[in-house]
Amino acid sequence: MSSSAVMVDIRGVHKSFGAHEVLRGVDLQVRASEVTVVIGPSGSGKSTLLRGINHLEKLDRGSVSIDGELVGYRRRGDKLYELKEREILRRRTRIGFVFQNFNLFPHLTVLENITEAPVSALGRSRSQATVRARELLARVGLADKERAYPRQLSGGQQQRVAIARALALDPRVLLFDEPTSALDPELVGEVLDVIKDVARAGTTMIVVTHEIGFAREIADTVVFMDDGLIVEQGPPEQVLDHPRQDRTRAFLAKVL
Ligand code: ADP
Ligand code: MG
Repeated sequence: MSSSAVMVDIRGVHKSFGAHEVLRGVDLQVRASEVTVVIGPSGSGKSTLLRGINHLEKLDRGSVSIDGELVGYRRRGDKLYELKEREILRRRTRIGFVFQNFNLFPHLTVLENITEAPVSALGRSRSQATVRARELLARVGLADKERAYPRQLSGGQQQRVAIARALALDPRVLLFDEPTSALDPELVGEVLDVIKDVARAGTTMIVVTHEIGFAREIADTVVFMDDGLIVEQGPPEQVLDHPRQDRTRAFLAKVL
């Protein structure tokens, strides 16, 4: 276990949709350069938690800070005030998000997909952004695809572009929401390999996935969520191989 600083600090997070309380008091700390894998049944609140970290979902209670800075709010005394949209967008650039369905811009080429945010949100020059985008495309094995449009790529290739796009902002943390669950089975491996490579390079990550073997390989910490709460968390060999909670055991029996 490293003793590096806390990069993502989630405290007392609550979120309801109407009468349905989807997050019921979630606390989670992720240290710099560590990988946290979140598992749990469908509907347990995993996506809502990731979206809350990014302030794509406004929280009812609690707070999330990234590298010591709140994402959607500023604090005055005990109270939190929501920031202006522009400032939220700026702070959000510290967080990379990779979605289940890739979410590439369909009308932009692969290269343009990667350079768009560094130029528009970080104010980098186009030439600087292009140099960096080409490095990242080489890293995800797609150096020859920079002029392609998303629809000309396989799902696995699109997801690798999405990872390169997320990395182009040099995020403090990278969030993955079931990054391989929309892929044909034969394309899952190439995407998991890229994610493993990014993890090894020391990027702080939170990964929601049902790929338990992959979780065992890359996770420093596995978190099991059920019904809006973290039920159990610990190193993979503990949570995946010797779960302490019945609910964790029952879930693993279904997915393994
Ligand atoms: P998971 O990712 O673990 O499958 P989600 O976070 O997507 O779970 O959803 C948790 C619960 O919140 C589900 O019951 C879902 O139907 C509900 N939910 C998610 N987003 C919304 C929304 N925008 N409006 C209403 N209910 C939602
Ligand atoms: Mg989900």
